[in-house]
Amino acid sequence: MGKPTGFLEFTREETRACSVKERIKNFNEFHEPLSPDERKNQAARCMECGVPFCQSGMNIGGMISGCPLNNLIPEWNDLIYRGNQEQAYKRLRITNNFPEFTSRVCPALCEKACTCSANGEAVTVRNNEYSIVETAYDNGWATAEPPKVRTGKKVAVIGSGPSGLAAADQLNRRGHSVTVFERSDRVGGLLMYGIPNMKLEKHIIDRRIDIMKKEGVEFKTGVNVGKDISAEELKESYDRIILACGASNPRDIKVEGREAEGVYFAVDFLRSTTKSLLDNGLQEGTFISAKGKNVIVIGGGDTGNDCVGTCVRHGAKSILQLEMMPKLPDTRAENNPWPQWPRICKTDYGQEEAAEVYGTDPRIYQTTVKKFIGDKDGKLKKAVLVSLSFEKDKATGRMNMKEVEGSEHEVECELVLIAAGFLGSENYVTSAFGVEVDQRTNVIGQDGFHKTNVENVFTAGDMHSGQSLVVRAIRDGRDCAREVDESLMGYTNL
Ligand SMILES: Cc1cc2nc3c(=O)[nH]c(=O)nc-3n(C[C@H](O)[C@H](O)[C@H](O)COP(=O)(O)OP(=O)(O)OC[C@H]3O[C@@H](n4cnc5c(N)ncnc54)[C@H](O)[C@@H]3O)c2cc1C
Ligand code: SF4
Repeated sequence: MGKPTGFLEFTREETRACSVKERIKNFNEFHEPLSPDERKNQAARCMECGVPFCQSGMNIGGMISGCPLNNLIPEWNDLIYRGNQEQAYKRLRITNNFPEFTSRVCPALCEKACTCSANGEAVTVRNNEYSIVETAYDNGWATAEPPKVRTGKKVAVIGSGPSGLAAADQLNRRGHSVTVFERSDRVGGLLMYGIPNMKLEKHIIDRRIDIMKKEGVEFKTGVNVGKDISAEELKESYDRIILACGASNPRDIKVEGREAEGVYFAVDFLRSTTKSLLDNGLQEGTFISAKGKNVIVIGGGDTGNDCVGTCVRHGAKSILQLEMMPKLPDTRAENNPWPQWPRICKTDYGQEEAAEVYGTDPRIYQTTVKKFIGDKDGKLKKAVLVSLSFEKDKATGRMNMKEVEGSEHEVECELVLIAAGFLGSENYVTSAFGVEVDQRTNVIGQDGFHKTNVENVFTAGDMHSGQSLVVRAIRDGRDCAREVDESLMGYTNL
């Protein structure tokens, strides 16, 4: 423990976000790192607990608490405090293949379980992780380390999201020859074409991919497996196959007028902005634009928030974000104690920006869309909103949702973004390989593992577990790689 009294001496200080007025002028990341001395003080706040919940990644109260990767958090906090950043990077890389991604986009399950947060403010674990990995890049410690020996075994990974990349990285380190197939034009999955640039600038992904290429991983983009290349062909050419295609089936809403021009899935909207940004610097006409439009975002979650932040940058006229559920409490409820994941209302960057730009929080709770109204050309013009109430069913104890009579009202809107979650994997891939799926279309791992019902075919990430988080996808990719390695070699040291 670097400084036993650190948690008493220093208060939590996060990286400073630049003002809303400035940051909405572009799609860049907008946090300024702390100075090295300030960072040391933040690391010194870690109490190096005997039982560090921050790195536990356990299921407590039905939710994961602590880091799902079991990052060795107290160890690297201590190393930061002592000024041994290179060693900190080495410790971090043991458990996390891509700290440059998680330290930008992870909701920091670690911090919610940090002992400091039981009575005060958590250690800035995610920001500390960011400082370790960026210091490593700045100093040339994050470089290619190709395996010294090749096993002669070939593995195909389908999908280049965080789970596929983690599996590929692990298996390549072990000496297997790995090829990653990606149907999109760029590598990264939802890191590239879901999460907006202001949360994760895309050159950060390219930087890691360049290292992986130098280490020997082969990437084939623009190849849609199951359409451009058959499952049989892959099975013949590779010793093992990992399906890591994500849960890319968006949940639709079934209301009258859904076919109106101007109603899009959130992911298609976000993807079009990022692709245009990278291809041509957002030339007008090359992306779905919210400029000058009244926008309704359906879904109060993180994807909805990303849509809000993106619409603000496009220059939307107004933004409403609808959430069917009631607003969560601002602080933990009695039945949701530390170190459980806190079920509280959080205001994210997009909502903060919309509140400042339009003068009011964009979120409306217990509300949904009942109908879309188009003009004579089928272009969206209005939406009918309705309020919802919840009543407990005495027999089952379940909450039933009901429309509030007389609450229907029309609002102007020319753009609707559906951010209502995802249903699971896409059928053409699973049927091409003949893998079994559950009711939600997640691929079933046999006996709770990553091996599917088809010989030599494994699965990982959202395709396996349903829509989740980057950190969990990395974890699942690593776990899958271990099983694949064991099946190839008869043992594993991954
Ligand atoms: C808009 C949005 C924002 C998000 N923000 C966050 C966040 O801030 N923090 C966080 O932790 N999580 C976030 N998530 C969740 C997170 O991105 C996912 O849980 C994670 O990316 C899943 O990783 P994956 O590797 O399983 O799949 P994906 O990232 O979905 O990658 C799957 C890849 O497989 C490719 N593919 C599919 N089928 C084929 C095929 N037949 N042939 C070839 N390639 C194929 C796809 O093109 C895709 O590139 C967000 C999700 C969305 C939608
Ligand atoms: S990966 Fe996420 S949960 Fe794990 S240490 Fe980093 S920020 Fe915390």
